[in-house]
Amino acid sequence: MKRALAALVLGCLGSGVAAFAAGGKDPPVRVTLTRLDCGATKQPRDIAIFSDTRAYEGVKKSLVASCYLIRHGDELMLWDTGYPVATKTDPQSPIALNATVVEQLRALNIIPAQVTRVGVSHHHGDHTGQARDFPGATLLIGRGDWAALTAAPASTGFGAPDPAPVAHWISGGGKVEQVRGDLDVFGDGSVVMLDMPGHTPGHHSLLVKLKAKGPILLTGDLAHFQENYDTGGVPGFNTDRADTIASLDRFKAMARNMKATVVIQHDPRDVGKLPAFPAAAD
Ligand SMILES: [Zn+2]
Repeated sequence: MKRALAALVLGCLGSGVAAFAAGGKDPPVRVTLTRLDCGATKQPRDIAIFSDTRAYEGVKKSLVASCYLIRHGDELMLWDTGYPVATKTDPQSPIALNATVVEQLRALNIIPAQVTRVGVSHHHGDHTGQARDFPGATLLIGRGDWAALTAAPASTGFGAPDPAPVAHWISGGGKVEQVRGDLDVFGDGSVVMLDMPGHTPGHHSLLVKLKAKGPILLTGDLAHFQENYDTGGVPGFNTDRADTIASLDRFKAMARNMKATVVIQHDPRDVGKLPAFPAAAD
């Protein structure tokens, strides 16, 4: 019996080696994650709009906008693209943008044409603002958000979709992948867009599995700061309250089960969870 088991184990290992030798399975590729600075409030801002239960009346908070560069072997992907480039030179803007995404990539010796995928958590302008600088990239966006961006007549008001930064893709000039449910971006489970609707209809978070640092969960705008994450707070301008709470429930369970590092993209206190630019986590 023992011998039979040993033979079976050896047999399995043997076939694995054979499959590898035949090119059946590639070794895992190196994945790294770099945070890019995509804006920050010049002054603490009123955060009452981030609660539909009036949790933050009269409370002010500083927020940041974060974008991320993901290297997957030789391939480059951006996750969110921050505020528009014009923010940088607009003295009236409440947001400070010190360097554009293109400028930060240049410091890493990367030109925009090397970025083949731009994934966005959702359709708001502080996440799609610099997408237009990567016209050759495939835009990965939740199906519900794409529908909202291309709807006629367009919805208006705070939190409405902002088609201008992605006009290049709406006009058919660039390739779009409408993401329904989760999307395993590279097909090996290392980078997965997670279906987390509620903030917007097609909102996604991102899982990045790193070899040394372990799994990282980037929230998108599932929560804007730690207090809302902890208490299940829902911004008044979210498109669906029940979906937001269900998404938070799923996200938190994933974080627990995977022992993941949770990074709330707009929370300045989470910036230090990843190495400071230009360093990358791996
Ligand atoms: Zn945002």
